[in-house]
Amino acid sequence: MVKGNIGVTTDNIFPVIKKFLYSDHEIFLRELVSNAVDATQKLKTLASVGDYKGEMGDLKVEVKLDKKAKTLTISDRGVGMTADEIEKYINQIAFSGATEFLDKYKNDANAIIGHFGLGFYSAFMVSKQVEIFTKSYTDAPAQHWSCDGSPEYTLKTCDKADRGTDIVLHIDDENKEFLEEARISTILTKYCKFLPIPIVFGKKKEWKDGKEVETAEDNIVNNTEPAWTKKPVDLKDEDYANFYRELYPYGEDPLFHIHLNVDFPFNLTGILYFPHIKNNIDLQRNKIQLYSNQVFVTDSVEDIVPDFLTLLHGVIDSPDIPLNVSRSYLQSDQNVKKISAHITKKVADRLQEIFKSDRAQFEEKWDALRIFIVYGMLTDEKFYDRAKEFALLKNIDGKFFTFDEYKELIKTEQTDKDGNLIYLYANNAHEQHTYIEAAKAKGYDVLLMDGQLDAHWLSQLEQKNDKSRYVRVDADVVEKLIRKADAPKVTLTAEQQDALTNIFQSQLPKIDKTEFLVTMEQLDADGQPIVITQNEFMRRMKDMAATGGNPMMGFYGEMPDSYNVVLNTAHPLIEGILKAEEAECADKVAPLATEIADLEKRRETLKDGHKGKKSEEIPTAETEEIKTIDKKVGELRDKKKAIYADFASGQNHVKQLIDLALLANNMLKGKDLADFVKRSVDLLK
Ligand code: ADP
Ligand code: MG
Repeated sequence: MVKGNIGVTTDNIFPVIKKFLYSDHEIFLRELVSNAVDATQKLKTLASVGDYKGEMGDLKVEVKLDKKAKTLTISDRGVGMTADEIEKYINQIAFSGATEFLDKYKNDANAIIGHFGLGFYSAFMVSKQVEIFTKSYTDAPAQHWSCDGSPEYTLKTCDKADRGTDIVLHIDDENKEFLEEARISTILTKYCKFLPIPIVFGKKKEWKDGKEVETAEDNIVNNTEPAWTKKPVDLKDEDYANFYRELYPYGEDPLFHIHLNVDFPFNLTGILYFPHIKNNIDLQRNKIQLYSNQVFVTDSVEDIVPDFLTLLHGVIDSPDIPLNVSRSYLQSDQNVKKISAHITKKVADRLQEIFKSDRAQFEEKWDALRIFIVYGMLTDEKFYDRAKEFALLKNIDGKFFTFDEYKELIKTEQTDKDGNLIYLYANNAHEQHTYIEAAKAKGYDVLLMDGQLDAHWLSQLEQKNDKSRYVRVDADVVEKLIRKADAPKVTLTAEQQDALTNIFQSQLPKIDKTEFLVTMEQLDADGQPIVITQNEFMRRMKDMAATGGNPMMGFYGEMPDSYNVVLNTAHPLIEGILKAEEAECADKVAPLATEIADLEKRRETLKDGHKGKKSEEIPTAETEEIKTIDKKVGELRDKKKAIYADFASGQNHVKQLIDLALLANNMLKGKDLADFVKRSVDLLK
């Protein structure tokens, strides 16, 4: 028998393994099973090149639990190890700079294991003793290696009939969970589901007379030939669909798939699926799974593929993505970068191909695809450049256009006087119906932009395309949505404008976090008398704030909603109200107006006298007088306001016109709506 010390340069690696690798304990099983698979595949390779000519037997890997003995055993019929090989591969853990590295990565089990090639030693995370019984495929005698977690081990020959290796773990008390069948079963399903050699864990069970009983058949936990390892030509659509279900038994059927198959300059296989993406992109539960030679590594692929691609489902397998590394390492790895760029390109290729070969299908699936494509365009320049060829704009009538096609469509009608191409859009066909109809009646086309990221998207499209602007249909009165000539001037006097403003302002509803500003336009006499609009810029900033992204947007999110109440001064109804006002209020308002005018004149004279003087040179009496004038003017204005308000409250037309405008904007609610209905009935009497 040989006794010796395991060749590590720190005093004792085991406390480190036990202490620091706590959270990732379960990966010991992945490590040991994949070693068993490696050994089995080595034997197959030796046999295939003629270096091994003996029997192969049943080349499965077995995982066995013995609750009484408190052991977990992983057995294979692979190449096995000679005494020399144990010395070389198990006893000599060669590494340098250990202390420093351990310190840096003490919370990252994968990094430590990967760096040191400690795959086998991860067994000590859960065991108080580990034994190896192994018989090499050569004629060397079988060996028994044992180690109790100190750097001391024993090695002696033993009796073992079969070729291969048994790794026996004596599970320690803190890790009893790994003696539970259900726990082991879960871990095997997670990491070993697609390993290339059958993994047996117990016997298949079936239901008999209301009880679960064991059958004689091996319970094989893995599919040794998952779809992505096959050639695309050998697979039918149905095979891809079946594989999707194997990955995500509860997932909704995907839209389409991409089969990745690269062997230069790196090795990459996999199948990615485009899922149906529902409104909320945060709720993607089926994640892409990353494998390395069919061993599951992780399903957090954030650092490997661009963010928008994490919306896809499926499998990526690459031996070039190191199995056991830390996140920070992945982000800077050149292979990972290349792989990421490659996947982006493949995804774009596939989308373009479907677009070209089957535009009808592409259009049909656009609604389910768009959030993915838009997200990609917003976050990945390279993807934007590809996607601009096949991304679609959908108009309110459900017709689809590429960017170029749409430009062509609207060029004539929707270019403004400064040569800007104005894209009109709605984000709610029902709520903005009146505005949409008004725009259509003018010969404009209206896009439907109701996607979650569309506010961000159209801002991007404006930036990328010179002289193009996106304007929501309710951003202005239809006459001014696309300015083709200078707008006609409002011909009312200041006094008349003041009257109208006050009359309408007094009857507008008080809505929380909402502001109304009365403005005037000289529009068509047969157009709408009053329209409520919302400035494109402010509204879009609020929309963008609502869908997150730039934290600076939070500022806009806090602002109240601001609406313009636009009065059409050319409309007979508005003219009528003005006439009625003049008839009823002129006598009451005129003396106030004169008084205000006189006071303002006096103030102006005083101020003129103060020009060029320093504040201490101005007589206190005069400063006081200006203050008094300001106060008085304020009071008179309020009086005037009260007169207009009083007049307005007696005018059913004013309230009715406001309510109609609110109604067209979906803003008439609750009591105001009930009052409107009642008033409408009264007006019909
Ligand atoms: P790695 O798998 O990265 O080489 P490990 O620590 O997991 O590192 O294993 C070290 C070595 O021990 C393997 O390369 C292999 O030579 C040997 N080994 C481990 N398990 C087995 C096994 N079941 N059969 C044969 N050899 C094994
Ligand atoms: Mg290994």
